[in-house]
Amino acid sequence: MKKLIDIPLISVVPTEGAVLRAMGVPGGQDQGARVERLVAAALEEFRSEARPKGIVAEVDEDGFAAIYEGAGDNDSPSPLLEIFPRADVLTLFAVTLGASLSDRVSALFDDGKVALGATLDAAASEGTERACVHLDGIVLEDARTDGRAGAASRILRYSPGYCGWNLTGQRALFAALGPEEIGIRLTESCLMEPIKSISGVMVIGPAEIHKFTDDYSFCSACPTHDCRRRIKELA
Ligand code: SF4
Repeated sequence: MKKLIDIPLISVVPTEGAVLRAMGVPGGQDQGARVERLVAAALEEFRSEARPKGIVAEVDEDGFAAIYEGAGDNDSPSPLLEIFPRADVLTLFAVTLGASLSDRVSALFDDGKVALGATLDAAASEGTERACVHLDGIVLEDARTDGRAGAASRILRYSPGYCGWNLTGQRALFAALGPEEIGIRLTESCLMEPIKSISGVMVIGPAEIHKFTDDYSFCSACPTHDCRRRIKELA
């Protein structure tokens, strides 16, 4: 069943430290009054413009297999291809912070306010991830409440465009989920508008199913190997 979720603003507002980290500034250092003012101004803009919303819809294994197959452009093997058949619950999701925030970032750059624009952009990226974490909590709690997940179950997200799931997979995902209902549009090139949006599938199951070695054919070109951090945080 599809569920639209209004995400509380307080759940997505990043801390000053998180904004700085998102900009590549190491923590634990005094950044000076100018940087502090810049981050404070960006967070004020964030609170004023962000409209966080989410949509989720559970899908069964066969249903997700068809969505994942999409236009047949994925790399194979891939982590998700091996993980989703072992999952207890699969939930399609999309979140957005809304068009107003993305428009404000663009307007700041257009006005030459590059530092504030870049800081707000970093805050928005961090806030979008926090919106996903908020949905993670709701979806995992629902699964635990109805007995399909236990205390030891873990949830991880996968998105088209990453880890072997071709970006064109957005088309089948959008057709099944309908993120247009929360204001997200898919462009011809399969990018989402507003840009501060994330979509994909949440995979719930025992921690072991989420663990894999990062030696797929596409991993050598991966700039982050972020799966290592995600798997480590499952513990
Ligand atoms: S190394 Fe990169 S591409 Fe490979 S699975 Fe991990 S995050 Fe995905």
